[in-house]
Amino acid sequence: MSELASHELLVDGERMHVLDEASLGMLVQDPSLARGPLDSWIQWTAQQVLSHREFCLAWHTLGGRPTRSWIVLLHMYDRWIRIHWEHLVCPRCQIRALAANPTVPDLHVGASDIQATREESWSWPAVPCPSCGSAFDRRAIWAEVEASASGTPGS
Ligand SMILES: [Zn+2]
Repeated sequence: MSELASHELLVDGERMHVLDEASLGMLVQDPSLARGPLDSWIQWTAQQVLSHREFCLAWHTLGGRPTRSWIVLLHMYDRWIRIHWEHLVCPRCQIRALAANPTVPDLHVGASDIQATREESWSWPAVPCPSCGSAFDRRAIWAEVEASASGTPGS
């Protein structure tokens, strides 16, 4: 019971290994199973994916390296988009939002055409603050108000 189960998915011409729901639950219990990233990051990420079904958590291998690189994918516009989750504070209403940014350059390493994938990442429509509708000062294609209970006020 220590191996994570996944299925393959082709994203931007690259083979990704998407964790199934049971494996996400295993990572929440024991994040060291991911063998690589910070335990706190993988645990938090697995929890978020379990409660946001339009996302998935996948790993890929870069440049023949033995270690797994972990990535979050968002299903939108009939396809999977590589994203980086960010905590944003709305510049107008100050509400805290969880947002998906597809434009972080490191996300696209491994794509069959990195440059094309990077350019495409800027083509997805930006979403505004879900509370007041103001533009964020960072790119986001998905955002929701963060539950205050899970936040860390003042930090
Ligand atoms: Zn706002």
